[in-house]
Amino acid sequence: MDAATVTCATCRTKNQVPFVADDAPRCAQCHGFLPWITEAVDADYLAIADSTKVVVCVELWAGWAQPSRLVGPLLERVVAERAGRVKLVRVNVEDARRVQSKHEARLIPTLLLLWQGEEIARHTGAMQLPQLRRWVDQAIAATFRSASPTL
Ligand SMILES: [Zn+2]
Repeated sequence: MDAATVTCATCRTKNQVPFVADDAPRCAQCHGFLPWITEAVDADYLAIADSTKVVVCVELWAGWAQPSRLVGPLLERVVAERAGRVKLVRVNVEDARRVQSKHEARLIPTLLLLWQGEEIARHTGAMQLPQLRRWVDQAIAATFRSASPTL
């Protein structure tokens, strides 16, 4: 799977959102940003997680890990609220042992925030919604600071 059908929250147009792209996806009709929620396995992980200009949130999850079932829907909500600024890459570690060992993720769920392929934050276990929002917002703010030119 390399694209998802996403209904625009503003104008209700259905859009095809590619998993791999440089820029965050926008609605074809109203040009608003769309939530960018993707899935990756070992074979396509690097292409999906590395090739973008926005912060990437990697969710290493598993069906057997109870906290995964709690944090998954919250993450989707936080990413949708921040459309255009963050991309979610959901990775089921059952299908992605190499991704799990690359990130040395012994506990599931492990959440990572990546900026230009580099890990900038990590959290293991569940999080409440306000904590999750703060965690993602801090990473976005940090990348804005590092990207702005020094005067
Ligand atoms: Zn739209």
